[in-house]
Amino acid sequence: MDKFELTILGCNSAMPAHGRFPTSQVLNVSGELLLIDCGEGTQMRMSQYKIKRNQIRHILISHLHGDHIYGLPGFLGSLSHLSRTAPLKIYGPPGLQEYVSTCLRISQSHIDYNIEIVEVALSSLNPLFRTSKFTVEAFPVNHRIPCMGFLIKETPRPVNIKKDAVSTYEMSIPEIKAVKAGQDLLRDGKQIPNEDLTHPRRRARSYAYCADTQIYGWSKDHLRGIDMLYHEATYLDELREQAHTRGHATALEAAELAKRLDVDQLIIGHYSSRYRSIDALVEEAQTVFPNTVGGYDGMIRNIDA
Ligand SMILES: [Zn+2]
Ligand SMILES: [Zn+2]
Repeated sequence: MDKFELTILGCNSAMPAHGRFPTSQVLNVSGELLLIDCGEGTQMRMSQYKIKRNQIRHILISHLHGDHIYGLPGFLGSLSHLSRTAPLKIYGPPGLQEYVSTCLRISQSHIDYNIEIVEVALSSLNPLFRTSKFTVEAFPVNHRIPCMGFLIKETPRPVNIKKDAVSTYEMSIPEIKAVKAGQDLLRDGKQIPNEDLTHPRRRARSYAYCADTQIYGWSKDHLRGIDMLYHEATYLDELREQAHTRGHATALEAAELAKRLDVDQLIIGHYSSRYRSIDALVEEAQTVFPNTVGGYDGMIRNIDA
């Protein structure tokens, strides 16, 4: 259960087209599931990809355009039909509370579990919450309406002491604790270096989701060197002007950003319905950033520990 695994449920923009649903994805961090955006079709894709709806504990909503939230009221209603009792927390921009409560009220939906909606201030990098497995931070991006991206970082895993070191040096419990905290060990007046006593700490994995946005006009230093970046690439670069007018990015721009930020891999998505095939978008991005993957509904990407 040491997963850090992204499943794309939908990666089209605006409306379902060409076998692609609008935006939604699930990140599984060691068995804890996080739903990111909830476009139309989210539930159908979850059952198709065998993701249990009731396992979702947190939902992150980037912005209030329909292609990111039209699946949400139905999803919340289904959880009640599935006899959910566990509380659910939803994070999103101001206006999310009104959207959800209006939909549920007018449709006379009965929700038998607790929904807590947190409307997030969009001024700068903003810590949202942490679990034992990961932390989530929100950051503003630059779209036509208030919109945020999310940075999910795995909680650093504890240092493991080599078993033979414990027996060789007959380490006491306080000494084990001190070594786990990074200290060296003293034996017979000699200092045993910490790295001789412990296994190398496994690095904490990281993922950032940059939904609808231009690549300009927002701060992105916190994304430098992350493992996996999802960035929208609504258009080919020949439509750069149109992309900017509509608050979007091109495949080439997403790739330039990934290169500048020195991320490990780039996943593009949020494709315009004008593209039946995404091949040209992926090829365009790969000319600048070879480790680009074209996201597709059903794509699963794990970052190895
Ligand atoms: Zn969108
Ligand atoms: Zn949008």
